[in-house]
Amino acid sequence: MAFFPFLLFIGVLSTTAATHHKSNTHFDGFQVHRLYVNPEDTSVLQATFDSLSIVELNHGRGKNNTSTLDLAIPPSHVEAFRALNLTTTILSDNLGMDIAAEGPLQDYPEFDADGVPSLSWFDAYHAYEDHIRFWSDLQASFPNNSELIQAGQSFEGRPIQGIHLWGSGGRNSKPAVFFNGNVHAREWITSMVSPLHPLIDYCPVPLCRFIDVDFVGYENDTAVRTALDNYDFYVLPVVNPDGFVYSQTDNRLWRKNRQKRENTTEIGTDINRNWSVGFGGDGSSSNPGSETFSGYSPGDAPETAALMKFAQTLAADKGIKLYIDWHSYAQVILLSYGYTCDSFPENIDQQISLARETSARIAQSYNTTFDYGPGCLVLYQSSGNGRDYMTDAAGTEFGWGIELRSTSYGFVLPADQILPSSIEIWEGMKYLWANM
Ligand SMILES: [Zn+2]
Repeated sequence: MAFFPFLLFIGVLSTTAATHHKSNTHFDGFQVHRLYVNPEDTSVLQATFDSLSIVELNHGRGKNNTSTLDLAIPPSHVEAFRALNLTTTILSDNLGMDIAAEGPLQDYPEFDADGVPSLSWFDAYHAYEDHIRFWSDLQASFPNNSELIQAGQSFEGRPIQGIHLWGSGGRNSKPAVFFNGNVHAREWITSMVSPLHPLIDYCPVPLCRFIDVDFVGYENDTAVRTALDNYDFYVLPVVNPDGFVYSQTDNRLWRKNRQKRENTTEIGTDINRNWSVGFGGDGSSSNPGSETFSGYSPGDAPETAALMKFAQTLAADKGIKLYIDWHSYAQVILLSYGYTCDSFPENIDQQISLARETSARIAQSYNTTFDYGPGCLVLYQSSGNGRDYMTDAAGTEFGWGIELRSTSYGFVLPADQILPSSIEIWEGMKYLWANM
């Protein structure tokens, strides 16, 4: 399925030097439309969209197995877009206002009595350097059962950092649960939800402060204790730090990494098309200007290379039980495979059963519906993605991707939904870990 070349909108107004300024690319007056379309038709429309400087957002699934594609249309081309007479729903009249309403990046939270950053962390989005500090402060608050980890470096030389947590068996004694967040830069909710923040900092304190085995939560909460005793958790909340920083400082809707290539002025490789399994197939692009540019060879994006190496280390040691690549915003649990619609992992029936109940648990808190199924069938074909690599090349029993909220708000999810998103996912994860 075609993804359209992403068009960069270079900001024209300077911003102040404030530490927490957000995105100087302007989306004022951009309309967001949801287009209902057959997958085959999107490639026909691609040239038209290009000529109208339309920004492609997310794919989704409409009623009766139709596909949806969300588009951001610059104000100067709204009339021309309307003249195409396509069937659409307007999701936003002014994307710039949505970004403003998302709120400014907030200062670092206070600490609570346990020495852990307070729940106010979830009241707003935060600058990348504050995420790093947050992981470090969380780790420092339960030092006997956690460590900071690093998996290589980004193109611009930022360490890909995270946390490793373990239970009573001791460090590195159990099969891995491996989480990757924010592979796509603009999917900010993923680095708020994915890093086990829910486990550590959302859960009604102190019940879920389970990381320290001496802690009361570890003794009292069976789900928490079982999960931590059964698995070593490796969480890399922002595997695309360069893109994430760029989405905070320059372009809120940036997706790829920030890799420069020879013989092109286009920047960025889609890290989630750069893995070796299914590399270069349908649902990825060899065009450096595309939103889904795969790179020229598997792992030629340094971030992907680092993650493949890290995964191989886990696989060769205690093995990987569960991998989740966190995305937004289609509200769907994606199982392998994405690169083919014609074959399935051997344990697909068990996977679908687990995903169905995980989805049901997620829905219990706020009625947020999550679809589920093999990615190629339930969303769209995507080749060279991380979950397929984990399944086929790293022996992972459950190689999943989860697209978080929200099909209504898109990438620019209001900050007051960060905590609800964390809570509902926490409920799903508790079920999944106890039953997989
Ligand atoms: Zn994504």
